Amino acid sequence: MKKQVNLLKGIPAAPGLVIGKAFVLGSEDMEVEKKSIAESQVPKEIARFEDALIKTREEILDIQKKISKEMGVRHAQIFNAHLLVLEDRTLIEGVISRLKKEKNSIEYTFLQVLKKYIKTFSHIDDPYLRERLSDIEDVGRRILRNLRGIRREILSNLKDKLVIVAYDLSPSDTASMHKEKVMGFITDIGGKTSHTAIMAKALEIPAVVGLEEATLRIKTGDVLVVDGTKGEVRINPDRASLAKYKQQSEKIVRTVKTLLKLRDLPAVTKDGHEVILAANIELPDELASVVSHGAKGIGLYRSEYFYMNRTDLPGEDEHFEAYKKVSQQVRPHPVVIRTLDLGGDKFLSQLHIPHEMNPYLGWRAIRFCLARPDVFKVQLRAILRASAFGKLKIMYPMISGIEELRKANHMLEDVKTELRSKKISFDEDIEVGAMIEIPSAALTSDILAKEADFFSIGTNDLIQYSIAVDRVNEKIAYLYEPAHPAVLRLIRNIIDSGHKENIWVGMCGEMASEPAFALLLLGLGLDEFSVSPAAVPAIKQVVRSVTFEMAKEVSNQALTLTTGKAVEEFAKQKLEELIP
Ligand code: PEP
Ligand code: MG
Repeated sequence: MKKQVNLLKGIPAAPGLVIGKAFVLGSEDMEVEKKSIAESQVPKEIARFEDALIKTREEILDIQKKISKEMGVRHAQIFNAHLLVLEDRTLIEGVISRLKKEKNSIEYTFLQVLKKYIKTFSHIDDPYLRERLSDIEDVGRRILRNLRGIRREILSNLKDKLVIVAYDLSPSDTASMHKEKVMGFITDIGGKTSHTAIMAKALEIPAVVGLEEATLRIKTGDVLVVDGTKGEVRINPDRASLAKYKQQSEKIVRTVKTLLKLRDLPAVTKDGHEVILAANIELPDELASVVSHGAKGIGLYRSEYFYMNRTDLPGEDEHFEAYKKVSQQVRPHPVVIRTLDLGGDKFLSQLHIPHEMNPYLGWRAIRFCLARPDVFKVQLRAILRASAFGKLKIMYPMISGIEELRKANHMLEDVKTELRSKKISFDEDIEVGAMIEIPSAALTSDILAKEADFFSIGTNDLIQYSIAVDRVNEKIAYLYEPAHPAVLRLIRNIIDSGHKENIWVGMCGEMASEPAFALLLLGLGLDEFSVSPAAVPAIKQVVRSVTFEMAKEVSNQALTLTTGKAVEEFAKQKLEELIP
C-alpha cells in the first residue's frame, strides 16, 4: 500500500484535492486506568452511569434531528441502531452487576464489559450481528466520553478547518462534522461503498478510505495533501511539492468553476453528435448535486441503499414515495431505477442470506430477486406506480443471459396485469433494460438486445469478471484496467449489438467518469454516459471538444493496441491534445 513513507495509497471515496492540517481521532478514549472504589460509592457510580446513558441518548437524538434536517430521514435512521444499544439490558445489567461485585470505577467497569461484549460480537458468525459492532463501539465511546465528563474536541466543535484522520468514521462522527470545518477525511478501513464514502460524496468533501495505516503514520498537526480523486494522501510534503500541490488544488478549483459554466450547454460534439449525460446516485439526497452539475436525469439509481441500515424491508409505499419524489425532481429527464442489486460487497442483513464462499459469484442481484418474488414484486409494483408521475425506466442488474431477462420481464408482466386489474395507472411504455456487467451477457448482447429496451454497461463489475480481479482488493488493483483490450472488445460488442437492434446503450460504471476513457467510449458510439454528479462537467467538456469522427478514429486506433496501459496512455495523450 505504501510506496514511500510519506505517501499513502488508498481507495478514492470522494473526489477533490485539499491541503490541510490533520486531526487524528484517537483511540485514547478506549483506555481507562483501573481504580477501585469503596462499597459506599457504588450507588453514586450507578447514578453516574445512568446519567451518562441519558446524556448519550440525548446526544444521539440531537444528531438524528440534525441529520434528518440536513440530509434527510434516511440518513437519520442509521442512528436507530445506536439508540437500541443504549437500551440493551444485557450490557447495562452486565455493567451494574460487575460494578457491585468488583468495585472498580464505573469508567473502568464499563470499558471492561464493553470490550468483552465487542469481543463476543466479533466472533459471532452472523454477519448482521457483526455489522452491529461498529454501532456498539460508537455508542460505547460516547458513553465513556460522557462518564469522564471531558468534552473531547468533538468534531462539531472544531475551531479550524482540518482533515479528519480516523481508523473508521462512524455515521455519528460523520454526522457531527460541519462542512465548513472539515476539509476532507481519510480512514484506515472501508471501501467505496462504506458509509464514510457515501456521506463524503453527499457532502462533497474529498475523502480517501482503506488507507490501512493512516492513523499510525499521521499525527495531529501534520500537513496532509488529500487527493480524493486518486485515492492518495501525502504526509508533510516538502516546501517545493507543497507549492506544487497548492497550484494543483487552485487549478482544480478554477477548472471546476470554468467547467460549471458548461452546465446548461448540451453534451454535443463539434460536428453535432449529441449524447446523454446523466448521473449516478445512491441516495435521493444527492439530487441537488445532480441538478447543480447539469446532469440530464439519473442513469443509475442504486436502489439497494434504500434497503441498508435498517432492520426491516422497505414497504411498497416507501419505495413508491422515494421513486416518485426523485422522478418529479428531475423531470422531464428520466430516472433509471436499478432493481435490488444486493450481494458482493452490498450486504443486507434483513434478508438473512447465508454466507457464501464466493459472494461476488453467488446468490445475488437478479438471481436473488427471481427467487424471491415476494421481495422483488414489491419494488416492481412501486416503480410502476411511480412511473405515472415522472419518466422512470427499469434496469435489472447482473443479467447473465436471456433466460434471466425473460423471467424478470415475466414477473414484471404479472405485476402490470395486477395493477391494470386494480385500475392503478402506470406508464404502459416504461422502458426496461439490462445492465451488462457479466462477460456472458456482453458476449450474448446480440440476443439480449432483441428483448431489452436499452443496455447500461456496468464496467465496475464487467472489469472484475472479465479480468478476474476483485474490484475492492487494493493488492491487485494494478490489474483492474478499464482499458484492457478484453474489456474494450466487450464494450464494442455490446454497443454494436445494441445499435443493430436500435436500442440505446449507456454506461453507468465508473469508467465513463474518466475523461480519457470517455473519449474512447464516445468514439465507440456510446449513447449515454452516467457518471457521479461532480464528474458531469468534465465529461461534457470532452464531448464538446471533439468531433465524433475524430473520437471514432481514436477508438479505432485504441482497439489495435495490445495492453491496457498502452490504451490508457494513448487515450490520455489524445485528450491532452484536445484539451491541453
Ligand atoms: C457496475 O457494476 O459498473 C455498476 C455500475 O454497478 P455497481 O457498482 O453498483 O455494482
Ligand atoms: Mg455492478
